[in-house]
Amino acid sequence: MSSNLKIIPLGGSGEIGKNCTAVIQGEDMLIVDVGLSFPNEEMPGVDIVIPDFTYILENKKLLKGIVLTHAHEDHIGALSYLLRDVKCPVYATEFTMAMIKMKMDEKMDIRSVDFRQINFRDKIKAGSLEFEIIRVTHSIPESGAVAINTEHGYVVFTGDFKLDFTPVDGKLTDIARLTELGTEGVLVLLSDSTNVERPGWGPSEKSVADGLRAAISQAKGRVLLTTFASNVHRMQQAFDVAHELGRKVAVAGRRMEQTLDLCERLKYLKVPKNVRIKLDDARNLQDDQVVILTTGSQGEPMAALSQMSREEYSRLRIREGDTILYSARPIPGNEAAIWRTVNRLFRMGAEVIYEGKTPVHCSGHAYQEELKMMVNITRPFYLAPVHGEPRHQHIYKNMAMDMGYPEHRIFTMADGLPLEFDENKGWLGEPVTCGRVLVDNGGSAGGVDDEVLRDRLSVANDGIIIPVIAVDVERGAIIGQPSLDAKGFSGSEEVLREAAEVMCDALDQLKPNDIKSVDHVKHTAADAVRKFVHRKTKMRPLVVPAIVEV
Ligand SMILES: [Zn+2]
Ligand SMILES: [Zn+2]
Repeated sequence: MSSNLKIIPLGGSGEIGKNCTAVIQGEDMLIVDVGLSFPNEEMPGVDIVIPDFTYILENKKLLKGIVLTHAHEDHIGALSYLLRDVKCPVYATEFTMAMIKMKMDEKMDIRSVDFRQINFRDKIKAGSLEFEIIRVTHSIPESGAVAINTEHGYVVFTGDFKLDFTPVDGKLTDIARLTELGTEGVLVLLSDSTNVERPGWGPSEKSVADGLRAAISQAKGRVLLTTFASNVHRMQQAFDVAHELGRKVAVAGRRMEQTLDLCERLKYLKVPKNVRIKLDDARNLQDDQVVILTTGSQGEPMAALSQMSREEYSRLRIREGDTILYSARPIPGNEAAIWRTVNRLFRMGAEVIYEGKTPVHCSGHAYQEELKMMVNITRPFYLAPVHGEPRHQHIYKNMAMDMGYPEHRIFTMADGLPLEFDENKGWLGEPVTCGRVLVDNGGSAGGVDDEVLRDRLSVANDGIIIPVIAVDVERGAIIGQPSLDAKGFSGSEEVLREAAEVMCDALDQLKPNDIKSVDHVKHTAADAVRKFVHRKTKMRPLVVPAIVEV
């Protein structure tokens, strides 16, 4: 009698970010990816968002391993947080593993982690489950799909992928193995659906070289190119094109330098001889002999390009004649920060190129025809689009139905909702504990809870009101006239004066015994002020009473 199979997304289904999925068969659990996402504007002071690991911790005993598809933050960024509480083998291929170690080294003692470097196509046992990583093309080297052999057939995660037939490193998607899986029997394909809205085939990463060549050859002065520190193939092309046009390349940005060093060492990047120079040496060259690769494509406040735009980067100043190439697409939510940076750069006299006739960027995710091809070669019985928001999942479903899939064989997964299978059918089961944990670096390990977040939003939106009340706790009496102080509150003086009166009225109702409790006084004052201000102005400032005990 075979056991039921459960696939439980704890992040990354119905959203783009913090990918993390548990696959459970009997007494064995395997986790695929442990990623993070970035906060939106409703999360002030939050640095990163990670999945709620409660379900994994509650089923810790079953955990046989963690497998990582590729080294993007939305797939590996929360690993160090999970590994604080669980111990199990962590599997990845060479490049992904090296990147994980580099990043985790800053956060924890990595010698305590049971890292197991594996090769593509290696078959690895994790209890009764057996899995392998299969090469796919994407915007970071050595990306993989994961195929898990279960009692009901293969569960295949495409991972993030595109079908690039002219990849920069020449390493093609392993279509042969994916096709073989199709023949052996794929139960369900969990497919990337990020770019399902885009018809046709996406351009090859190699096509970006033309855009870079056009832009760099037209530039009169220095060229600064910004992209993700992990986009090694993009940087490879920048080195090659710069070399071809007689320019040297320097790097500004710690993360990018680290990544390039690692890639050169492991031979994932081939820098033409004598092309890479130190940033400080760029000064000794003519402007039209220089290309500078830099971080900051997403407007991250502390990244090199953002600092340059604020004249805070001492090693390099932007000046008239500089050309800045944005070789990256904005991650939704970052647009405002990016445009602020772009505007400042224009104001400094630079030419900023973010969209052109010849593109200087292309996506790492499959377009519609590529997604169809993946279905066609793996021939899964069931489909489940992930790595997408509900609209992407919806469009994917329509696409699959056009391909002849009946609706009941396509699952719209959501975080915390198990997709279950027995011998005869698949269904969406009862939800498990799932959610997000907001991490405030430097804050407590438990994350920022909803109340803290609400308070931050209240202050950010409507300011803060401070009732100042002197209390004789021994006698149980209010001393003098309580008053209101306000910061960042845009209501009128009139409202504050009335609110103070309402508060005094409420405090007058208190009996001496009530007043002996400072909390009771605080609560009464805050409640009165909060309600009055909201009724009068519809605003919700944070109200924090200050009690002076005399
Ligand atoms: Zn991703
Ligand atoms: Zn990715």
